[in-house]
Amino acid sequence: MTATAALDSVRASIARACKDAGRDPADVTLVAVSKTFPAEAIEPVIAAGQRVFGENRVQEAKGKWPALIERHAGIQLHLIGPLQSNKAKEAVALFDAIHAVDRDSLCEALAKEIAAQKRDPLLFAQINTGAEPQKAGVLPEAADAFLKKCAETHGLKISGLMCIPPADEAPGPHFALTAKIAKRNGLRLLSMGMSADFADAILLGATHVRVGSAIFGGRH
Ligand SMILES: *Cc1c(COP(=O)(O)O)cnc(C)c1O
Repeated sequence: MTATAALDSVRASIARACKDAGRDPADVTLVAVSKTFPAEAIEPVIAAGQRVFGENRVQEAKGKWPALIERHAGIQLHLIGPLQSNKAKEAVALFDAIHAVDRDSLCEALAKEIAAQKRDPLLFAQINTGAEPQKAGVLPEAADAFLKKCAETHGLKISGLMCIPPADEAPGPHFALTAKIAKRNGLRLLSMGMSADFADAILLGATHVRVGSAIFGGRH
């Protein structure tokens, strides 16, 4: 299947999941995850009307996106991977959304750059719902205090939560937990669901699904 046919199929699945959930498809943003794929693979997806893309590394995104953004109006770039504080400056300059805000030092660096560059990226706090040691994110039990600190200490506006469920577990409970933490903290946006489980995530309230391989094919 070509990437544009795959994109159509993902869009149709999103529409179906929204219908099943009684939700408005306009409330679910498809973030097409183009990490590891070169500009030539991304161009046809842009030509098919997709405008929101996700990358997980600042360096890689810096290499391929400025030229694409120059050529195509309305591109929105989302950083979906972990961010080192020393890359906050480049990340704030390039990305329209950052999905993995998860610690004080990063909040501090982001707040400084957002003020200095007068940018307003959409921010998501990542929740490590499976408490996996190798994974980024705030532990569920620390989430409320972290979100309070983002606002009160750093003056940072967090708009939503993001999670990546453990690979070997059913994702539903992780999505539900993330939605519950968002709700009690008054957060509207939920970045959850990938190629294998975005329909489940939409049923549980996802507003941003991050879909890579179902559009671009397998990564090597
Ligand atoms: C790579 C990646 C995705 C996309 O994964 P697929 O299974 O290819 O859809 C989503 N979210 C994050 C954080 C990723 O790193």
